[in-house]
Amino acid sequence: MKFDRKKVIEKLEEKKALAPCQRCGQNNFSVLDQMTNFSVQEDTQGFVLGGATVPAALVICNHCGAITPHALGALGLLNSEEN
Ligand SMILES: [Zn+2]
Repeated sequence: MKFDRKKVIEKLEEKKALAPCQRCGQNNFSVLDQMTNFSVQEDTQGFVLGGATVPAALVICNHCGAITPHALGALGLLNSEEN
């Protein structure tokens, strides 16, 4: 399923994730057109290529550049049948 930033914006509004920037207090954000994946692993040694990830949307403060990730799973945007 293609990443859809409009759906992310809808979900963030629906969940009232609308607080001002946690760094600078301004209230002007962009949701990136692309998503990211955070690599996660249980072992503290080494780096597991191709291992588990947490897919996330990135919200960027237009004033100070602080980046806030939102897990797509928590927003209900993983494994959706909608396209
Ligand atoms: Zn900011």
